[in-house]
Amino acid sequence: MTTPETTSADNHHVIQVRGARENNLADLSLDIPKRRLTVFTGVSGSGKSSLVFGTIAAESQRLINETYTAFVQSFMPSLGRPDVDALHNLSAAIVVDQERMGANSRSTVGTVTDAYTMLRIVFSRLGTPRIGTSAAFSFNLPEGMCPRCEGAGQVSDIDIDQLVDREKSLNDGAITVPNFAVDSWYWQIMAHSGFYDPDKKLKDFTEREWADFLHKPQTKVKVGSNNFTYEGLVLKVQRTMLSKDRDAMQSHIGAFVDRAVVFRDCPDCAGARLTAAALSSRIDGVNIAECSAMQISDLAQFVRKIDDPGVAPLLAGLRDLLDSLVEIGLGYLSLDRPAGTLSGGEAQRVKMVRHLGSSLTDVTYVFDEPTIGLHPHDIQRMNALLLRLRDKGNTVLVVEHKPEVISIADHVVDLGPGAGTDGGQICYSGDVPGLRASGTLTGRHLEHRAGLRSTVREPHGRLSIKGADLHNLQDVSVDIPLGVLTVVTGVAGSGKSSLIHGSLPAGQGVVVADQSPIRGSRRSNPATYTGLLNPIRTAFAKANGVKPALFSANSEGACSKCNGLGLIYTDLAMMAGVASVCEECEGKRFTPEVLTYTLDGRNISEVLGMSVAEAHDFFPSGQAHAVLGRLRDVGLGYIRLGQPLNTLSGGERQRLKLAIHMAEKAATYVLDEPTTGLHMADVDQLLALLDRLVDAGNTVIVIEHHQAVMAHADWLIDLGPGAGHDGGRVVFEGTPADLVAQGGTLTARHLREYVA
Ligand code: ADP
Ligand code: ADP
Ligand code: ZN
Ligand code: ZN
Repeated sequence: MTTPETTSADNHHVIQVRGARENNLADLSLDIPKRRLTVFTGVSGSGKSSLVFGTIAAESQRLINETYTAFVQSFMPSLGRPDVDALHNLSAAIVVDQERMGANSRSTVGTVTDAYTMLRIVFSRLGTPRIGTSAAFSFNLPEGMCPRCEGAGQVSDIDIDQLVDREKSLNDGAITVPNFAVDSWYWQIMAHSGFYDPDKKLKDFTEREWADFLHKPQTKVKVGSNNFTYEGLVLKVQRTMLSKDRDAMQSHIGAFVDRAVVFRDCPDCAGARLTAAALSSRIDGVNIAECSAMQISDLAQFVRKIDDPGVAPLLAGLRDLLDSLVEIGLGYLSLDRPAGTLSGGEAQRVKMVRHLGSSLTDVTYVFDEPTIGLHPHDIQRMNALLLRLRDKGNTVLVVEHKPEVISIADHVVDLGPGAGTDGGQICYSGDVPGLRASGTLTGRHLEHRAGLRSTVREPHGRLSIKGADLHNLQDVSVDIPLGVLTVVTGVAGSGKSSLIHGSLPAGQGVVVADQSPIRGSRRSNPATYTGLLNPIRTAFAKANGVKPALFSANSEGACSKCNGLGLIYTDLAMMAGVASVCEECEGKRFTPEVLTYTLDGRNISEVLGMSVAEAHDFFPSGQAHAVLGRLRDVGLGYIRLGQPLNTLSGGERQRLKLAIHMAEKAATYVLDEPTTGLHMADVDQLLALLDRLVDAGNTVIVIEHHQAVMAHADWLIDLGPGAGHDGGRVVFEGTPADLVAQGGTLTARHLREYVA
């Protein structure tokens, strides 16, 4: 282990970190070489994010914010200074993470990468006929947007059949909207309105009655001796439900809204979003909407054929950008793809391309597991791009577990040795050969190879997918064996998610544990989300002879300033919100009175501050013990019971969902890249968990790129051969041993190398 003792700030070739103590960091001091590629490794929970994001990137961001005037700063969050003695030689940091991009349908792959902006200029110069400036080709500007759908490409309709059952009369309960059942307030107004007969089936309504029923604007009616306001059902639903914030709805209302609102292509532009004039302008017979709908690898070819000296630099820039998208493994996307539909890994790679084109140098780029969603074949291309960023004179910091990426590092910082309080130390800092020789957990695993499963389990049935054609799937029919571990592989964009998430027959007992955000996740934490808080509250109440509710957030026992969150959130229009520790309770969440109640010497705030592993010992039996055991089994022993869920990574969220669902008697588990965020050493633990699930009689289907997981499978389904329209077919089904022995696919090649 090397700990630099010098603190001379004149060494400009390294970022100097001195005395870092964020979260679990154990007063770390280290030097990180500038304009080099440094990979941070270590088991999950060892402190990689706390060092790279929570300390280095956070401080860089804060220093930049401080350069604004006091006036501008008054609009910004007061970011707390990370807990660190000193940081020297920082440069501006850009975090390229996997947060999905907003669901705003106006931002597309084309708009966020600027490729569409460049294409607009090309069309405004070379399109026939020329219809105006580049604004005339923008679906986000009045000059270009289709007037009917205002550039959305889609119009929304209400599916009337989700609101009513036409076979019934009002009195029989024809209205199926939640909260509008027979005898509800709204039902009474309708039934007594006199506009139609409440005993008549809706399907027998005259046109007039039907129109009044659905669309009559607000009108005063008399019910008994009182006046009420009548309003047609569609208008009422629109006003009281559809115009509300979807996230703030009760879940059954939200689910209803999702069912009732249907989108269809705009009848005027057929989904192309643009004015007729814009769509009439063509280059080589192709309009801009058709260009945007092409797979990016095809568009790159198309643009190559355009040759006009007047716009040569622009065309060259566009070509470079499209080539970068292809190189980074996104050639299967199209520019018109809404950014919000990209997976976390895809979103991260799109953001990366944005920076590759940037002329900034001497920036610190910070990446969080850039290989997520990437097949070993794609990782080689990702590596090339990381090196390109470095060679432009930038400092590249990468949190990553994959040996393929670790091997290209100029410098490795290995944190550990364990997670949480057992981690937070530097186990190794130096080059890759040194890491291999270091004997650390990471060093040892670099050479580690999982063996192929010697005997595969026998399935006890199968789940048939027939003729799947979602997205790029080309009429795929495939059987998924039941009662075994099936791993679905293939390069990014080959159609794995489309097959498994989109085409699995909707049977009972399928549990999908994915990495998507958890609603309301600021207010929730592992204790509330898993239901663990209930037995804990009960235990506290019993021990102290008070009522359990005192120990919940949002009760009179909780701090009223922060409503039991311990944190105060400041939301900002333009930036991600920030959290600061509540001054009233100092982050303890509860009133001083509640904190006097203890259980075995610990108060509720201290219990919520325990890690899962500590709490598992603290509650030696009962329901709490069982839940905590499952959390530990999925590799979350280091997270704290009260840690807000919005601070968990995608991989941690997925494992948390898995832990919850393990308690249910599901028949089939679907997991999407469960090795996300897991160190090579943690992967063994995950495999053991998957085995336990299968051996208990369940079916487990895993989308994975990790060779250790492939090797461990009973059955492999390999999609490909390429991505987008070059993929979408099953190129291999069989056991891992068969794939290695006879497979000709990219996956076969990589698995063969891995187990060799
Ligand atoms: P890694 O990136 O190596 O997985 P982290 O830096 O995320 O590790 O976590 C290190 C430790 O700090 C863990 O014990 C984790 O539970 C804790 N931790 C991380 N983020 C927070 C947070 N926002 N609040 C409280 N504890 C946290
Ligand atoms: P994988 O899971 O193997 O990475 P996907 O199933 O996500 O592949 O994608 C397969 C193809 O389907 C790709 O061409 C992708 O662009 C397309 N696709 C995936 N999701 C959507 C979507 N929501 N809208 C349009 N196309 C999509
Ligand atoms: Zn339109
Ligand atoms: Zn408080």
